[in-house]
Amino acid sequence: MLSQEECHNIEVVANVLPFKVNNYVIEELIDWPNIPNDPMYQLTFPQKEMLQSEHFLLMEEAIAKRVGPEERSQLANSIRYQLNPHSSGQQNNIPTLHEQKLKGIQHKYRETVLFFPSNSQTCHAYCTFCFRWPQFVGMDGLKLRMKGSALLVDYLLEHPEVTDVVFTGGDPMVMSARQLESYINPIINAGLPSLKTIRIGTKVLSYWPYKFLTDKDADDTLRLFERIVNKGYHLAFMAHFNHVRELRTQSVQDAIRRILSTGAVIRTQTPVMRHINDSVEAWKEMWKEQVRLGCVPYYMFLARDTGAQDYFAGTLEEAFRIYRSAFNQVSGVVRTARGPVMSADPGKIEILGIEEVGGERVFVLRFIQARNPDWVGKPFFAKYDADAVWLHDLVPAFGKDKFFFEETFCAQVDAMSEIFDFK
Ligand SMILES: *Cc1c(COP(=O)(O)O)cnc(C)c1O
Ligand code: SF4
Repeated sequence: MLSQEECHNIEVVANVLPFKVNNYVIEELIDWPNIPNDPMYQLTFPQKEMLQSEHFLLMEEAIAKRVGPEERSQLANSIRYQLNPHSSGQQNNIPTLHEQKLKGIQHKYRETVLFFPSNSQTCHAYCTFCFRWPQFVGMDGLKLRMKGSALLVDYLLEHPEVTDVVFTGGDPMVMSARQLESYINPIINAGLPSLKTIRIGTKVLSYWPYKFLTDKDADDTLRLFERIVNKGYHLAFMAHFNHVRELRTQSVQDAIRRILSTGAVIRTQTPVMRHINDSVEAWKEMWKEQVRLGCVPYYMFLARDTGAQDYFAGTLEEAFRIYRSAFNQVSGVVRTARGPVMSADPGKIEILGIEEVGGERVFVLRFIQARNPDWVGKPFFAKYDADAVWLHDLVPAFGKDKFFFEETFCAQVDAMSEIFDFK
């Protein structure tokens, strides 16, 4: 199926960036006559251009010279350090409880905590654009993960402002029903008065729908979902879909139906990525199919500033045009996705428009999540820049030297550290 050259390129790139695929992706998702342009192939198989050419050459040379594993991994790490491995400032979001750092919880936004179970530190396959890639190649200095959820429950008891717990990873749905249950039960049995929603952030529907069909704990997993719902919680299954192709197999459609039958709601999110889904058609078809199957489109993200971002990231303007046209061509029930959104250090910033204000061309932006809850919903303006791909490319409009949130950023982080007990 693959030419010798393609195999060679995959080997070189996979020495730097993680690569993992399974038979479902290979047999059911990738359209082999259409490679290398096939979006499912681009999503899972490393491509030569995902590394900068000098990095590719260095690794290629090391492999040709058959350098030892030690030296090869040193080279790999030196390349990885140039790919902004710790892009999202996660260190700032680790909370403390009774003077103990809770490495396995991230509390950045008032209402919502992220929870990283130690058993969910992998995925069924890896996305080539993954922003969590450092943890899959073993260079995650932070090691955000936690065994059991007892400490999470203690933390939630002290933080009644939290309404949502998001299970994340890797992919929490790599866990067996028993493992998942061992994390969920203490939470739903603790009688936490403020907790309303349990979310599971996962790509399992795209990469392994059999989890809900033929795996031996498929029924147990669905019964666990039912118990969460019957306990009175909103169970939000946050499904990561990049392309309508992932929604077209019989298996995924059956899996969606079974999950919905438990009372869970499936919400969908994905970044807009060159080579995978950077067209109006791709988004329009994907959103429509999601809604037809009973899923609710939630976020359109922008490619984060890490890993192979240069390969995948289009401009902010391109993403906005795709969002707006796709939004325009679907009915109201499909217009539930917000975007395009940058999940950046100060918060989740949505691009609302590109407009001319007082003779100046500007991006109209707003926070839909922010470190400081006061920032949420307030429109602000950046100078129009046709090449901008991320927040750090933007400067304030109208001659201002800072964005409103930068003026107070340090003071705000201090204030938040009191609210959230960061140390
Ligand atoms: C996206 C995100 C959340 C969830 O935000 P919602 O807008 O509630 O979906 C929570 N924490 C972090 C760190 C996030 O990036
Ligand atoms: S499923 Fe999510 S965490 Fe896993 S490889 Fe893809 S983007 Fe990364």
